[in-house]
Amino acid sequence: MNLSVQIDIVEVTTENLLADTTSGRTDRTVVVGGHLDSVAEGPGINDNGSGTAAILETALQMAELGIDPENRVRFAFWSGEEDGLIGSSHYVEQLSAREIKEHALNLNFDMIGSPNSVNFVYDGDGDAFGAAGPNGSALIEGVFTDFFASQGQSSDPTEFDGRSDYFGFIEAGIPAGGLFTGAEGIKSVEQAARYGGTAGIAYDPCYHAACDGIANVSAGALDIMSDAVAHSTLTFAETESAVNGTGKGKAKGQFDPQFKGSNAVK
Ligand SMILES: [Zn+2]
Repeated sequence: MNLSVQIDIVEVTTENLLADTTSGRTDRTVVVGGHLDSVAEGPGINDNGSGTAAILETALQMAELGIDPENRVRFAFWSGEEDGLIGSSHYVEQLSAREIKEHALNLNFDMIGSPNSVNFVYDGDGDAFGAAGPNGSALIEGVFTDFFASQGQSSDPTEFDGRSDYFGFIEAGIPAGGLFTGAEGIKSVEQAARYGGTAGIAYDPCYHAACDGIANVSAGALDIMSDAVAHSTLTFAETESAVNGTGKGKAKGQFDPQFKGSNAVK
């Protein structure tokens, strides 16, 4: 068999955008991030205009309210996620071992307004899917599940599989957690009973498609998720305890991620 392939490889320069609070302990930096890029096929308003908008609004409200956090908060708008977690991987790769120790945790918000949503929380303790994050990730998961319970809302664990920008952080031993309202997965009858929406179709039928525009975002999902973003950011901005406990992870400052598309395979 002969196979001929024509391919154009275009190199582009792209940048992460980081904004730090001007006060707070720098040795317990809390990185609150989401990816700003989208796939080429569509505008990416749920994936991930939703996450970045909630992060931006949280930052603006903290400034407006004059909040002087105990720990520095670094708001991160990652580039190149859809091309293989490039921006966030670069960020972690360039940290020294000491700087890695000065990162308390990473919160990641990637898709939080899916039209047929479920309140998914990353399974940081691994009790649902087996893959646990670094020491501290279970505590982060608990902050989210407690928040949803306090609001009379259901929540479900989602696999901590490295499929978004927290991957570089957990590879470096930094605990992480975050939220997700679902992508190409199919809503079950049981989930539709608890969350509403439609069983048997995707959480986001416009995932990575041209129709991921403004009309693709559920205002109700974005509302409760934005509250969870603000609650978790403030919780970790103000905590006086170390999130990562005694286990500091590998803290090598170097890792070698491998991807299939944007799915981490190692
Ligand atoms: Zn995404």
